[in-house]
Amino acid sequence: EPLIPESLPAQRRYLCLVNPKSGPGKSLEIFLERVRPVLSEADVSHLLLVTERINHARDFVRNLELDQWCGIVIISGDGLLHEVYNGLMERSDAEEAIKIPIGMIPGGSGNGLARSICHASGEPYLVDPILACTLACVKGRLQELDLFRIEMPSKPPIYSFLSFGWGIMSDIDIESEKLRSIGEIRFTLWAFWRIFNLRTYSGRISYMPAKEKRIMSSPVDANANVTADDTFPTLEQKVPDDWLVEEGRFVIIYSSLVSHLGTKLFFAPEARLDDGVTWLMMIKGEASRRQILSYFINQEVGKHVDLPWVKIIPVRAFRLESFDDSIITIDGEIAHTDVVQGRVLPGKARILSF
Ligand code: ADP
Ligand code: MG
Repeated sequence: EPLIPESLPAQRRYLCLVNPKSGPGKSLEIFLERVRPVLSEADVSHLLLVTERINHARDFVRNLELDQWCGIVIISGDGLLHEVYNGLMERSDAEEAIKIPIGMIPGGSGNGLARSICHASGEPYLVDPILACTLACVKGRLQELDLFRIEMPSKPPIYSFLSFGWGIMSDIDIESEKLRSIGEIRFTLWAFWRIFNLRTYSGRISYMPAKEKRIMSSPVDANANVTADDTFPTLEQKVPDDWLVEEGRFVIIYSSLVSHLGTKLFFAPEARLDDGVTWLMMIKGEASRRQILSYFINQEVGKHVDLPWVKIIPVRAFRLESFDDSIITIDGEIAHTDVVQGRVLPGKARILSF
């Protein structure tokens, strides 16, 4: 018997996870005042867990009896879901556990997935993000979501659903964390600071371009263009000859599985939640301050993809080797490593959508 039913039963039970320290610290208030009334109105029962520390949610879902729940609803930023996915993948029943439907309600300072879910369904987000995302959880259509499996030397693999970063955007992500309390505006403010103090980063990127994207029209071709596991090199092996390699100085190398990295970061306009690719973007070290500023401004509306100094390509896998001591981020959190290799796991997870 499958652990998680194919469609949600009439009487639904959601596990709600709230990080009271996310973003401006309003997540618990958001849950109690905005989300809970809608859940009761829709006759959805729930259990609330307010996290008390880093990795509380991760440890909790690792031991959770999953068949009790129709879904897990996260009221936080992207960081809490990162914990949940990695906790689920540590279970002995990981392959089924990872399929538990996930709902996202934006309470953090980085809410890329919540924004991307609304965008993917053409639903309005900006007017009332909390209401929009709560309605998605209540509607509860199951939608597949790609994950990204990341390997690093002498560490267990990490599962990411959002972004990988190196260069100026990762510096902005991490350095602006002290401004978490001001919400998403922290990225914009710190971007100006970093452009003013522009630096370049030395490294090598090797990547496997996606020849075609995943088409989910019928279950038969659902796995048609998924590359078999054994065609990916290990970290110690050379990359295959059909991967492309670029080496030198860069201002940024960044990738995203979804369209938005934040409310006003329309990073990959063509991305779909289950397209089986991650969108790899790079800007070379020769780019001027003016060009980088223009990249950031255009990215708010997704027009950066047309700039000649910005390259963005759908890929199935890549390897990044950083030659100087610079920050690498995974889903916006720091990863202490110089080498990473990741590959897309198409449609590995499921989210609650409109
Ligand atoms: P934000 O978008 O503001 O960064 P997140 O939801 O991403 O908000 O949370 C940031 C970090 O807070 C996550 O990495 C998570 O591990 C951690 N965290 C979760 N619960 C708590 C807590 N109770 N106290 C402090 N940190 C927590
Ligand atoms: Mg994708």
